[in-house]
Amino acid sequence: MTGSYCIVCGQVLHFPGSLNRDEVDGGEARCLLCQRVDPPFERAVAYGSYEGGLRDLIHLLKFQQVRPAANVLGRVLAGTIASMEKVMPVGTIVVVPVPLHRNKKAQRGFNQAEMIARGAVKQLSRPKRFDLLTGVLVRRRETGSQIGLTSHQRRENLRGAFAVSDPTRMLNRDILLIDDVFTTGTTASECARVLLRAGAARVWVATVARTLKIADVRISALPEDLSEQDSEDRLGVAAQG
Ligand SMILES: [Zn+2]
Repeated sequence: MTGSYCIVCGQVLHFPGSLNRDEVDGGEARCLLCQRVDPPFERAVAYGSYEGGLRDLIHLLKFQQVRPAANVLGRVLAGTIASMEKVMPVGTIVVVPVPLHRNKKAQRGFNQAEMIARGAVKQLSRPKRFDLLTGVLVRRRETGSQIGLTSHQRRENLRGAFAVSDPTRMLNRDILLIDDVFTTGTTASECARVLLRAGAARVWVATVARTLKIADVRISALPEDLSEQDSEDRLGVAAQG
């Protein structure tokens, strides 16, 4: 995605007046939420907005089981990952798809995040730089839809849903978490926390699409469009570690 966005979580920022992003914090502008509390991941990037053709392609894969769509989505995601690569540590990056519960995976026939990750890793040319690892981050509980829940409810809904089956595989590793869509960041944050707790060094996030809501970059006053609930949610998480 191009334009003005939070350097950490990828949230679209509204720069007041004639400012452009390079004039704010040297192009490293953060949304208000990321100014207040660091998310558990280093950065979250997405290829594009969850709308139009991109949304259609994701739906083809997920709901109509059109598997070749995963290669297309993987290819575009590879470009996005490549653009983030320069700020990632040297050495091997472990690529971890957000897992589905086994019942859901059986029902769909595949995990779309895993297929997209596979497609992306194939495109990323440097051998050994990106190492796909599946089956270690697991979803041990089925979770209902996150749609319509408050941020607190979303976090409660996912609490304990993910686990690392073999922490030795994550110890001191740099992880790139992959998913199809980044909506509120609750899933990515929860996975990142579980990975860090298992000993991972750092977690990065790349998704094909993200839903966009406009946040204000101004620091001085709380804008109306920053949800207090979101902020409390992340502060609560930070307090609990
Ligand atoms: Zn942010």
